[in-house]
Amino acid sequence: MNYHVNEKGYYGQFGGAFIPEMLYPNVEELRHNYLKVMAEPDFKKEFDQLLKDYVGRPTPLYFAKRLSKKYNTKIYLKREDLCHTGAHKINNTIGQILMAKRLKKTRIIAETGAGQHGVATATVCALVGMECVVYMGEIDIARQAPNVARMKMLGAEVRPALSGSRTLKDATNEAIRDWINNPVNTHYIIGSAVGPHPYPDMVARFQSVVSKETKLQLKEVEGRENPDYVVACVGGGSNAAGAYYHYLNEPSVKLIAVEAAGKGVESGESAATSVLGKEGVIHGSKTLLMQSTDGQITEPYSISAGLDYPGVGPMHAHLYKSKRAEFISVTDDKAMEAGLELSQLEGIIPAIETSHALAIFKDKKFKPKDVVIISLSGRGDKDLNTYIDYFKL
Ligand SMILES: *Cc1c(COP(=O)(O)O)cnc(C)c1O
Repeated sequence: MNYHVNEKGYYGQFGGAFIPEMLYPNVEELRHNYLKVMAEPDFKKEFDQLLKDYVGRPTPLYFAKRLSKKYNTKIYLKREDLCHTGAHKINNTIGQILMAKRLKKTRIIAETGAGQHGVATATVCALVGMECVVYMGEIDIARQAPNVARMKMLGAEVRPALSGSRTLKDATNEAIRDWINNPVNTHYIIGSAVGPHPYPDMVARFQSVVSKETKLQLKEVEGRENPDYVVACVGGGSNAAGAYYHYLNEPSVKLIAVEAAGKGVESGESAATSVLGKEGVIHGSKTLLMQSTDGQITEPYSISAGLDYPGVGPMHAHLYKSKRAEFISVTDDKAMEAGLELSQLEGIIPAIETSHALAIFKDKKFKPKDVVIISLSGRGDKDLNTYIDYFKL
């Protein structure tokens, strides 16, 4: 079984490029060029240099001693929370801004829900001096004021999406409309391993630095490149794609994907996309998405804004269908507890998205000799108010 994208842009039955005809030239230009550009020595050099000097890579692979003792197994944290801007998202935006420059683009657009991807995009636009417009639902703008302020401080324009539910999917629609109207000078930086081909593959490749580093680091401390498990939370799937990438075709490495169950998978307030999802098309790719019986996209819910997406990237839909990865869903309550636990056992306050991945130790048992890698996708500073309200701190 192949877990990478094929030349038609599919992962098994999922993926492809389902786009309006007017978007075809933009996506086709990217598809035609992305692998060529990424293979250029100059591109690689600039990408690696920025990951090192600007993002702060390689990120540490940290042996979590007290957490390991508590769950009687060997737990390593891949510290993406230490990246500049506080999460893995910047690995992708650095790659895409360099891609945009190579394609002679002068203007960047992006969509954002919680604002994390908007901030990562505004950051790299400031870095290279490019115009940046971020679309964001009106409701999200009100909910995520600090990130809106960050984007403005970085010089980006934040444009409200006023239609529909005025959240992420409406912001995405606005961004697509903008791209159709500005095909020549504009590049659209998508924020996860979603969207029409080649986006999911391109984003996975930019994030793959995570598992590339993990292999080298694990070899040094454990004498072997391959752990027994790699665990990551899944919103659209970019941090998981990066953490899994160089292990996809290593059958001895078990992959665990953690989705947000919200108030419970059966509660009607959840974002457990793979379990609840049915095949459909969202944002240009065929994948699993939450929909009603007549095909309307259902609003997802999670306490964590970054996991609150009604679909999942096509790579992950395939990992689910083929059973290459085990999918576990974790409720708000269990995630919040796990976030508090990591804070007090290791002195690391994780993002609430990440707390979902950490919560699996409550239910799933590992052997004392198992080596378990957790993708610590982001830090919890942005979530402090949610933690405060929840724990009445
Ligand atoms: C955005 C985000 C996620 C979810 O996005 P993926 O593309 O699935 O990785 C997870 N963790 C953090 C910290 C995030 O900011």
